[in-house]
Amino acid sequence: TPPLLEVKNLVVEFPSRRGTLRALDDISFAIAPGEILGVVGESGAGKSLTGAAIIGLLEPPGRVAGGQILLGGQRIDHLDHAQMRHIRGRRIGAIFQDPLTSLNPLYTVGQQLIETILAHLPVSAAQARQRAIDLLGDTGIPAPAQRIDHYPHQFSGGMRQRVVIALALAAEPQLIVADEPTTALDVSIQAQIIQLLKSVCHARGAAVMLITHDMGVIAETCDRVAVLYAGRIAEIGPVHEVINHPAHPYTVGLMAAIPDMAQDRERLNQIDGAMPRLNAIPPGCAFHPRCPRAFDRCTAQRPDLLSAGATQAACWLHAAPPEVRA
Ligand code: SF4
Ligand code: MG
Repeated sequence: TPPLLEVKNLVVEFPSRRGTLRALDDISFAIAPGEILGVVGESGAGKSLTGAAIIGLLEPPGRVAGGQILLGGQRIDHLDHAQMRHIRGRRIGAIFQDPLTSLNPLYTVGQQLIETILAHLPVSAAQARQRAIDLLGDTGIPAPAQRIDHYPHQFSGGMRQRVVIALALAAEPQLIVADEPTTALDVSIQAQIIQLLKSVCHARGAAVMLITHDMGVIAETCDRVAVLYAGRIAEIGPVHEVINHPAHPYTVGLMAAIPDMAQDRERLNQIDGAMPRLNAIPPGCAFHPRCPRAFDRCTAQRPDLLSAGATQAACWLHAAPPEVRA
């Protein structure tokens, strides 16, 4: 299957008086229909920016300064606000950490769902209302025929995030971009919401880009995962490969930071140091000051993604030895 979403060599920059900050640098990945791609990394690595660039909601002065974003083979990175708003409603659904940013407190959840459905689907008002009730039911809201007429503040945090998922799915989008959708919720509710997102997306064949700092969530939910570090992809591959056979030293450290994923005590060592700020990204491999395996080449030359077993890793450890020439 051709990819549903293709991100090619994406560059996002923030011009400032002290010079231009490059926040995303040469990000490339694809998501197939029905696939769930996790995007993981420390805060500031560029996860949310990648999502914002795709849905056309980069905060100014941030801008796409290079590369392409394609949805169903069509470029969407150069559309105007009105065109992008239409795409966001109809073809891409967005779910954010705080449900209150997606819901208008002045309208009932039914009014908001029905408005979205009527704006994008060829249905009558009565059909739209029934569809809204069905969506609320599908997302696990009890008594949806009554709850549809309630306002957002009448729902608990977990129920409100279910409403947001229903709203994101209302126009039958092909892609859902979910940015930390459960971070604001109780731990007990988080797993339920993630399972819900996974099952409703699978049932509808929607692709999902799931942004989270939580490797546990990735492990339970995703087909593939991209690990971001300092605005670049450090490693990308099938989730079980990345978890069980991480190829990039940063991914090795991330996995070790999850106690029940560490295979042995050795790997429980955390990565020392902090991710660099955007205005102080080290030359060569941005991870080299923290990397236990850094060598000469790492400080001199920046690695691109290289084939590393079943994954791809931006790490010189996976380069073919230079003396091996055909
Ligand atoms: Fe470590 Fe070098 Fe690989 Fe970067 S390129 S992750 S510094 S070994
Ligand atoms: Mg974020």
